[in-house]
Amino acid sequence: MPLDHPALNAADPDLAALVGAEERLQADTLRLIPSENYVSAAVLEATGTVLTNKYSEGYPGRRYYEGQQNIDPVELLAIDRAKALFGTEHANVQPYSGSPANLAAYLAFAEPGDTVMGMALPMGGHLTHGWGVSATGKWFRGVQYGVRRDTGRIDFDEVRELALKERPKLIFCGGTAVPRTIDFAAFGEIAREAGAVLVADVAHIAGLIAGGAHPSPVPHADVISTTTHKTLRGPRGAMLLATKADTGKLIDKAVFPGLQGGPHNHTTAAIAVALREAAQPSFRAYAAQVVANAKALAEALAERGFDLVSGGTDNHLILMDLTPKDVPGKIAAKALDRAGIVVNYNTVPYDPRKPFDPSGVRIGTPSLTSRGLGTEHMPAVADWIDRGVTAAASGDETALKAIRAEVAELMAAYPAPGLAE
Ligand SMILES: *Cc1c(COP(=O)(O)O)cnc(C)c1O
Repeated sequence: MPLDHPALNAADPDLAALVGAEERLQADTLRLIPSENYVSAAVLEATGTVLTNKYSEGYPGRRYYEGQQNIDPVELLAIDRAKALFGTEHANVQPYSGSPANLAAYLAFAEPGDTVMGMALPMGGHLTHGWGVSATGKWFRGVQYGVRRDTGRIDFDEVRELALKERPKLIFCGGTAVPRTIDFAAFGEIAREAGAVLVADVAHIAGLIAGGAHPSPVPHADVISTTTHKTLRGPRGAMLLATKADTGKLIDKAVFPGLQGGPHNHTTAAIAVALREAAQPSFRAYAAQVVANAKALAEALAERGFDLVSGGTDNHLILMDLTPKDVPGKIAAKALDRAGIVVNYNTVPYDPRKPFDPSGVRIGTPSLTSRGLGTEHMPAVADWIDRGVTAAASGDETALKAIRAEVAELMAAYPAPGLAE
């Protein structure tokens, strides 16, 4: 159901129409992009408050602008809830998004030209982990680890060897296309041996960690970087958490005044709301269900002949190599989009194809879980994907249209949070 936006409708009908169309799209489609979700109506409302009007450079109690009577308690609520939820000594809730949060870690612990280490982008890492086209790969010397060709998993002997040889200032673990549990303890040990600061970038899995469905990087990582808008189900934003108070001080200085100006207070408020939601028992059930759904979906896809990187999943995410299906990832993703199934094309490890036209697609279960779908629905989801990929190969637009109608019917029975509350 489209929401009411009376002022927007009156002031800017063109923009309002686009927002309404996006609301219908998000309501009617099966959204499988693993970095996306549906926020609650409460989170949505918080982002639309007058807190957006306020400048607050600095930190609670130490601001460069007056009039912080309400803003300071808002930010303190977010900080305290983040610390309690993740069990850290320190939390900074001001980073504008995940990429600037990671940049703050560089600023806090490295100098330009220093060596940093992370997972290679085509192996499942993130641009900001030292990849060449990113500022982090241009301004720092990025050395990169990957996954084994035979297992699709990280080889810790290789990571240790590389770390001891290259002596990076920073080691990043975590990524954007990692379907398996991150072994934070193993990374922590290697970082200590190599004298590096370990940054656990848990952007994708923060909600699973908060909900007890993935091990915590505490106490193994020095710094935890996360977006707030993926499995954590908050607004677009980020946080930097530190396991020690002195590390936290360096992080704070790097975020402000090192990198940013005024924090986005409306986002901070929405982060506080999302963190409160994530501390409820229902969130633990959601996190467990995200993983159960992903495992059920992976199994149903494997039964239908899909080649899953690493053979399956431990978390919310599935990476598939479509080579055996004879369809490039991009063609499959675009066809699935026409069938009402929204995914993204993605490289797979050792992909012989180019990043803009890779072999794989990446899918995940956070959004459909937030709508209330369970393991009993996963065979149907796998079936739609299978039929959609087959239709993509043969160019069967009628089949795609038929899937789209079936998808819309199921979605209508499971209204999306934020759009229906
Ligand atoms: C999403 C993501 C980021 C970047 O977040 P943005 O908010 O898109 O800048 C960083 N690291 C990882 C591992 C991510 O998944």
